[in-house]
Parts: sequence; structure tokens; C-alpha cells
Amino acid sequence: MPTAVWTGHDLLDGKQVETLTIIFCTTGCYRGKEKGCTMCGFINDSADSTPSDDNLLAQLDRATGKSTPQTSMIKIFTSGSFFDEGEVTSSARRRILKTIGEMGSVKKVIAETRPEFVTEIKLRDTIDVLDRYEISFEIAIGLETSNDTIRKDCINKGFTFADFIRASQTAADIGVTTKAYLLLKPPFLSESMAIDDILSSISDTVPYSSTISLNLCNVQNGTLVEELHNRKDYRPPWLWSAVSILKKGKEMYPHITFMSDPVAAGSKRGPHNCGECDKEVAQVLRDFSLSQDQTILSDVDCHCFTLWEKVMELEDNAYGSYLVK
Ligand code: SF4
Ligand SMILES: [Zn+2]
Repeated sequence: MPTAVWTGHDLLDGKQVETLTIIFCTTGCYRGKEKGCTMCGFINDSADSTPSDDNLLAQLDRATGKSTPQTSMIKIFTSGSFFDEGEVTSSARRRILKTIGEMGSVKKVIAETRPEFVTEIKLRDTIDVLDRYEISFEIAIGLETSNDTIRKDCINKGFTFADFIRASQTAADIGVTTKAYLLLKPPFLSESMAIDDILSSISDTVPYSSTISLNLCNVQNGTLVEELHNRKDYRPPWLWSAVSILKKGKEMYPHITFMSDPVAAGSKRGPHNCGECDKEVAQVLRDFSLSQDQTILSDVDCHCFTLWEKVMELEDNAYGSYLVK
């Protein structure tokens, strides 16, 4: 069984299309088995032993059962890296891509991977299969931030911005695009520091990405972020912070696609505002992602907006504590 499968929508060449997202159950991220990233609980979803190629194909079969004749984009995750051959062998990878090609409706495949697994050989191998079906390919990398100190000390990610650039350039050289995930508010940053970090990360990342997806940090089981949250030393980001980042990002770089689909929005363990406007503001982020229309981001308001502005002003002086739950 795949870890999760769901259908949704995304943009393809500026148009909304139907998507199928598959999280394959593999042995998971090698990094997660070591100390792992401070916010990542994916290892809880991983298999104890490496699934066989046939098992991975059976997972795909289950997943594509949810597709429709209009499914144009497939997003592949593994709670790790699609290009890590310890998770997905090269033969399984090829068979997965061929099966997706044979569906007939798919125009684009996106697969998540850490940058160290991106090599020209693996990419060529991938596009050799997908080209036969006229399917474009994109790698998705959880860069999180362009700041190496924050990535190391607050996230423990285990790669550098230079590693990301190398992977993205290797991909670009053979016509493969890159989607960068940025993480809003890893632990140990105030709300305003977190926003500044993302804004500078956007500027640094734009030359190497066609899409920037803003992930809003949430509290996952068994993580350092959870420990900090339980001790009241961590609050997930405000949804207003994401609204402000997407507004500024799109203004600065209109040609870049900005996405954000906040997970667990409105709960105390997820990104949230005051509780009254959370659903509406989270929906605005999703609507913007599918339209890229900045005006949507200005159409939403709540009494807690001024409270968020105060937090931005004062939280830097709170010695690491958050000011509003
Ligand atoms: S966030 Fe990504 S790189 Fe970090 S432990 Fe989780 S799956 Fe691995
Ligand atoms: Zn509110």
C-alpha cells in the first residue's frame, strides 16, 4: 500500500489541471533514520524493509486507481528521495515511469529528491522513458532556505545551498526544471526572522527554480519541533506571514510560480492565525496558488491582522518565546 494517495489540482503551463499525488512506502529517507531534520516525522510512515520492485509497482497500481482520464500531472514522493536507489531501484524507477506514460493522460511528472541523488545519468534515464510519452519532468527539492546556517542549525538538513545549485544546474542542462520547497519558520527563529529568511531565500533561489513552494512548518510526531512545541518554545507560523511572503514574492518575481498548500492549517500544531479566520486565509493561499492572482491575497481581512503586525514588531525582543499562542 502506498503511504498516501490523493487527487488535487495544480498549474501546468499556466492552466489548472488535475493531479495525482503518490507517497510511495519505501524504507524512507536515510537522513531520517539518522538524526533527521528537526521538523520531519516522515520516518514514522516508512517501511521496515526495502519493498521489492513488484511491491512498488503494486503500490503504483493502487494509486493510479484514483486517477481520472483527465489526470495530467503526477507528483511522486517517497518520504525520502525518488532518486535514492536504496529506496527505489533504477529498474523500479523505470517501470514506474513507463507505467505512468502508458496511462496516456499525463503531461508532467514531478519527483521529490534530495540534491545529492541528482545525477545526469539518473536524469537522462528518466527523461529517456518520459520523452517517449511526451511527458515533461521536474525535480522537487526541499531546499528549505538558502541560508546554510539556518539549514544546518535550525533544520539539520545535511546539505548546502551549493549542493542545491549543482542539482538544479545538472537538471537545467538537460531540460529538467526544478521546484524548490522553502520552509517557513523552522525552530529557533522569531516570526519576523522567519519571514526575512524566506524573502531572501526567494531572491537567492529564483535563478535556479521555476516554481517555489512555500511549506508552512507544522508540528509532526516524534520531532524536535514537537518537543519544543510541548515546552511552549515553538509556535507554527502565522498564516498572515505566508500571505505577506506570497504577495511580496509575486510582486518581485512575477514570472515565477509560487505555491502554498498549508498542512494542518488552523490547528495549534499547524500554521494558524486567531482561530476565526484560519480556514478562510488558508483557502486564500490555495486559491492564489492555482491562479497566481495577487489581488486574491489582498481580499482577506480579520481583526487579528493588527495583532500579527504587533508580533512582528515585538517578538524579536522576547528571547525566543512566542507572544501569542
Ligand atoms: S525533511 Fe526530507 S531530508 Fe529531512 S529527514 Fe525528512 S525526508 Fe529526509
Ligand atoms: Zn483572525
